[in-house]
Amino acid sequence: MRCFRPLVPASLCCVASCLLLLSSCKRPSATTAADAHVSSRPSAPARPPAIYDSHVHITPLPDTLNTALRIFSAVGVEKFAVKSAGSPGSPRFAATVQLADYLGERMAFFGNIDWEGIDEPGWAKREVAALEKIIAAGGSGIKIFKALGLGVRLKDGSLLKVDDPRLDPLWRRAGELGAIVAWHVADPVAFFKPIDKNNERYDELSLAPDWSFYGKDYPSHAQLLAARDRVIARFPKTIFLGIHLANHPEDLDYVDGLLSRYKNLYVDTSARVPEIGRHPPQKVREFFVRHQDRILFGTDLIVTPGGLQLGSVSLKEPDFSDAVAFYQAHRNYFETSKRQIAHPTPIQGRWKVDAINLPPAVLSKFYRDNAERLIFAPRSRFLARRAAKQRAEAGKSAGRAH
Ligand SMILES: [Zn+2]
Repeated sequence: MRCFRPLVPASLCCVASCLLLLSSCKRPSATTAADAHVSSRPSAPARPPAIYDSHVHITPLPDTLNTALRIFSAVGVEKFAVKSAGSPGSPRFAATVQLADYLGERMAFFGNIDWEGIDEPGWAKREVAALEKIIAAGGSGIKIFKALGLGVRLKDGSLLKVDDPRLDPLWRRAGELGAIVAWHVADPVAFFKPIDKNNERYDELSLAPDWSFYGKDYPSHAQLLAARDRVIARFPKTIFLGIHLANHPEDLDYVDGLLSRYKNLYVDTSARVPEIGRHPPQKVREFFVRHQDRILFGTDLIVTPGGLQLGSVSLKEPDFSDAVAFYQAHRNYFETSKRQIAHPTPIQGRWKVDAINLPPAVLSKFYRDNAERLIFAPRSRFLARRAAKQRAEAGKSAGRAH
């Protein structure tokens, strides 16, 4: 049994220079409205609705980009948001910005926080400056990994708390800048339970035992979420994107309560359709209809030089056709009313799901409009502003030349 698990935060050398190779690639074009029009002729087969994947990870290299674009074009992903651009100053960040500049409106990105020096007095100031750089480079905000609460330790050895006040300047500045805080807190509830045959995620944890947060000095799942919720309440002007259905797809009522209480909270469905699909389909459908303006489609597709990851670890290395099937399983769940179908990430649990057949208007908000409003329209405005500035500067220097 081989565990196939590429790592997202791979350390990258010479990424920026490798990206120069991109200039030799043919610029990929997004599936356009015109394409959709052509394919909607009576003779052509109906094209499935286009989707924006608000949650992917792509190592910024020519090969990984080409792999990702090939998958996106096969499954109808028109726009996508990379959640792991790294920190300003790192080769990964420079290369991701270069990639985003190359793809224009089609790709958005989120930078990441550097926890190094968290004990030092200047840490918050430094990271606020980094956030400003991310936004100035055209980023949509920051993605906080689960390391906050489960991995980052202070000098005394204790875990940095999710709602530690030394992070407050960051949350506040994000609100002032209109930067989104995409937040992964805790992990599935089963990861906080013993790894044995009774654990419902036994298959997954057997392949990735270091994903277990059972015992030691880890806070409980409930404590981590409660701390996250206090931050969301404390900063009502900051937009928080609770990825993985606010990290509590196991309890739909809990997430329903959060969305009702905090208007500054959005959620995505990334890597959690297996959990979401365990609830009665009518209940899930009503949840999606009730919060139709604040749920984003996302998959957590990972593309690295080491291969693909489709929502979790897997027994065999996923290939292109697995990736296509992964997206199709999402579509089956959201777009049909089929009963007892396979969910997108079988390693997460040996159960079937009942599809929720979202109404077309809700589906289009979930698949595209919410992500457009929250992530991609601000990016388009950034690109337009920058292009206007460049034109003005070019005009000035042309004037000087005469
Ligand atoms: Zn992710």
